Amino acid sequence: MDGQSLERYDVTLIGGGPVGLFGAALAGLHGMKTKLIEALPHLGGQLYALYPEKWIYDVAGFPKVLAKDLVAQLVEQAMRYHPTICLEETVSDLEALPDGAWRLYTNRDVHETRTILITSGIGAFTPRKLPAANAERFEGTSIHYFVPPLKTFTDQRVVVVGGGDSALDWALALTDPAREVILVHRRDEFRGQQETLRQFSAHPKARIRVWTEVRDVAGTNRLEAVQLINHQTKETEWIEADAVVAALGFHSNLGPIKDWGLEFHGSSIVTNEAMQTSRPGIYAAGDVAYYPGKVKLIATGFGEIGNALGHIRGYLHPGHKGGLPHSTNLKVEREG
Ligand SMILES: Cc1cc2nc3c(=O)[nH]c(=O)nc-3n(C[C@H](O)[C@H](O)[C@H](O)COP(=O)(O)OP(=O)(O)OC[C@H]3O[C@@H](n4cnc5c(N)ncnc54)[C@H](O)[C@@H]3O)c2cc1C
Repeated sequence: MDGQSLERYDVTLIGGGPVGLFGAALAGLHGMKTKLIEALPHLGGQLYALYPEKWIYDVAGFPKVLAKDLVAQLVEQAMRYHPTICLEETVSDLEALPDGAWRLYTNRDVHETRTILITSGIGAFTPRKLPAANAERFEGTSIHYFVPPLKTFTDQRVVVVGGGDSALDWALALTDPAREVILVHRRDEFRGQQETLRQFSAHPKARIRVWTEVRDVAGTNRLEAVQLINHQTKETEWIEADAVVAALGFHSNLGPIKDWGLEFHGSSIVTNEAMQTSRPGIYAAGDVAYYPGKVKLIATGFGEIGNALGHIRGYLHPGHKGGLPHSTNLKVEREG
């Protein structure tokens, strides 16, 4: 940096999954100047990227909740305290400043913060691309790796590619708005839940093509057709299609965070009972954090983030004893 001064935050969360979002709400509630940096264009982490239409049954206070609805509630809760949110920024480098604060470098910007709370889960996601000719021309418009709202597919002929849980979930969910759903898988066995496969197969709008891949896609202004190839017979065929949902999985990678001098256990960051990492002022919570006996659940992450922020509060204000006061005792704006 050239000495230019940056706005300094009390806490910067790296990752806007459920744990980072709840962290932003709690940090704001307890008066910390908060920033949250997320690599994806959307908040919600795995819930948004991997299973937005799945029901979750084990989050306190919700007998059952769709993943996308839980994300919406978490975003609303966080936004009450006006955190600074930076989307489509992947944190890569860390610099220690002489006064104990930190600089974080992303693909787009530089951020300054007194403490860091790593909530990066299983890492930044990149979707596995559809290995079909001309696919890039339609990515984001009619070839989807992150599925837009289901009503986008109303009356469409949709090709879903993949054989895992995501592909089966999407295929089944799309039978509602779509005119026809063609599930294409390069093997004849599906890794996803057999009950979902059974429900999909029984649906009148469903078609299944096994031993098959999408080889090419075509259209003028929008997608109009995809070419399928059967690996057993080597036959090719063009079929009409308005959209492709490629559910081929995601690469996830903690990337350069691995080089920050933190202690790791596999691909998780080792923390102590205060959720502090091996470097002062850097904490971790959620799926990325490890300690003996760790269980990777949303509920666990919500507890860990409260614990971490209690200790961050003590770190920022050495006069305070650790922990967080009960929210019922706080004089905060409760309306809205
Ligand atoms: C199919 C499926 C079903 C599940 N069902 C349940 C369930 O029913 N109940 C339950 O409790 N749990 C369930 N889980 C697990 C649950 O989703 C995770 O425990 C939870 O998402 C962890 O939240 P997190 O915020 O720690 O991490 P994540 O959700 O992984 O979010 C981390 C975020 O950090 C971002 N990020 C990563 N690296 C960077 C970086 N360098 N810079 C900027 N941003 C970065 C990522 O893009 C991501 O958005 C399920 C998981 C899957 C895959």
